[in-house]
Amino acid sequence: TLSTKSECSMTVRTRVAPSPTGDPHLGTAYMALFNRAFAKKFGGQFVLRIEDTDQARSTVESEQVIFDALRWMGLEWDEGPDIEGSSGPYRQSERLEHYAKHAAELVEYGHAFHCFCSTERLAELRRAQQSAGETPRYDGLCLGLDEADKVRRLENGDAHVIRLRVPDNGECTFEDGLRGIITIPWQQVDMQVLVKSDGFPTYHLAVVVDDHMMDITHVLRGEEWISSVPKHVLLYQHFGWEMPSHYHLPLLRNPDQTKMSKRRNPTSINYYRRCGYLPETLLNYLALMGWSMPDQSEMFSFDEMVEAFDIDRMSAGAPVFDIEKLNWLNGQYIRDMSATAFMDRVAEWAVNRERFQELVPLVQERTERFIDLLPQVDYLLGERAEITQANFEHKELDDGDCIRILDHALRTLERTRSWERDDLFDELKSLAEAMDVKFRDFLFPLFVAISGRDVSLPLFDSLAFLGSDLSQSRIRTAIDVLGGVSKKERRRLELEFKDLDR
Ligand code: GLU
Repeated sequence: TLSTKSECSMTVRTRVAPSPTGDPHLGTAYMALFNRAFAKKFGGQFVLRIEDTDQARSTVESEQVIFDALRWMGLEWDEGPDIEGSSGPYRQSERLEHYAKHAAELVEYGHAFHCFCSTERLAELRRAQQSAGETPRYDGLCLGLDEADKVRRLENGDAHVIRLRVPDNGECTFEDGLRGIITIPWQQVDMQVLVKSDGFPTYHLAVVVDDHMMDITHVLRGEEWISSVPKHVLLYQHFGWEMPSHYHLPLLRNPDQTKMSKRRNPTSINYYRRCGYLPETLLNYLALMGWSMPDQSEMFSFDEMVEAFDIDRMSAGAPVFDIEKLNWLNGQYIRDMSATAFMDRVAEWAVNRERFQELVPLVQERTERFIDLLPQVDYLLGERAEITQANFEHKELDDGDCIRILDHALRTLERTRSWERDDLFDELKSLAEAMDVKFRDFLFPLFVAISGRDVSLPLFDSLAFLGSDLSQSRIRTAIDVLGGVSKKERRRLELEFKDLDR
């Protein structure tokens, strides 16, 4: 059982630790909110750490949008990559020496070992275990390597990873602040890779080293990490460090109880920002996910939440993120504003000179009377018009073709890093060529998805103006309008997309 650090004798320090690998996720804001509230409640500090050890997927652009989105929501941090503090650097890619040193220490004491197994061998092992109905798990082959052989291979520069040694028998028992005592048999715990072949640590090594070195006292994170706690317990034991208290918060759910994912509901904070949700509504709504005010009031500010905060009022049950409810709450906030505040907030949102300026080159040449203006931009400043399957009727394309085009365009846009008109054009043009579809035909379902009509302002300018979140969400809902895709169909489309020669 891990010991809980006492709350009165030390400064409470919490953290949120997003990976900069994509859109700023609502789940990150949710974790940041509770960690920040917890720290504030005890007069402590809230730290932002960037977990960018996945070299292939981490980007500085994504890091920046995470900063912007969290700040927009008012979730400021006391220390982080852009705010100096006592335990920096706060980006894991700048802390490699610490992980290397600690990994070497584990190896020296026999708690971790070098593993030279090839990806092919590991894949084969996984396949064999899966077909035998076993949980895939490293079989410990390299534990048996003799010392001379190991040294020879290391000197030779053979590719290898460092893995954690795990007890063969018995079980790991630890305490979760929300869920009580949890027991997991060691048999279910894999010999986790701690250092990858590129020399970067995995999450498991980095999180333990950093939480310790950054003096984190309470870890509030998503429930998907519960099964990893035994590995972390081992590491804390081996290093001789006291483990912070852990609270695994429930994941946000779709109304049908499935884990919230962007296929079902927009998950990017920027989507909500672009739609004109107020940051205080979003915060308030996220606070209601698993927590409640003692008087059950539904509308409250962050400061009121901190005032009343008590982690024991948090439930581990699966909270449903219901957009209808969020809309209702946003409406409450909007109706409570003064007329002046309303005008200011609308201007801050999008009805301002800066935003309008982006439209001028598009609309000026198409305008004879100013009264012609608004109908041209309605789908850019407002919702897309209602669409049905009938909107996709086309002489060359059937519904299946439209779905294929939309699906592949969406996959392309999801990995497009630069959301500029010309880059978007290049990306989609080359996709159309790879798919061997005439560009004009290719654009048709996209026009409908984005604007809700078949005549609109130029598509690529529209995409650029709407931004990635709104654009992608419109394409997703258009696919649904066309009947959606089954799991099997999605897998087929994914393979087909991979096979396109690009
Ligand atoms: N980088 C991890 C994530 O984004 C952090 C988990 C944690 O808070 O420990 O899920």
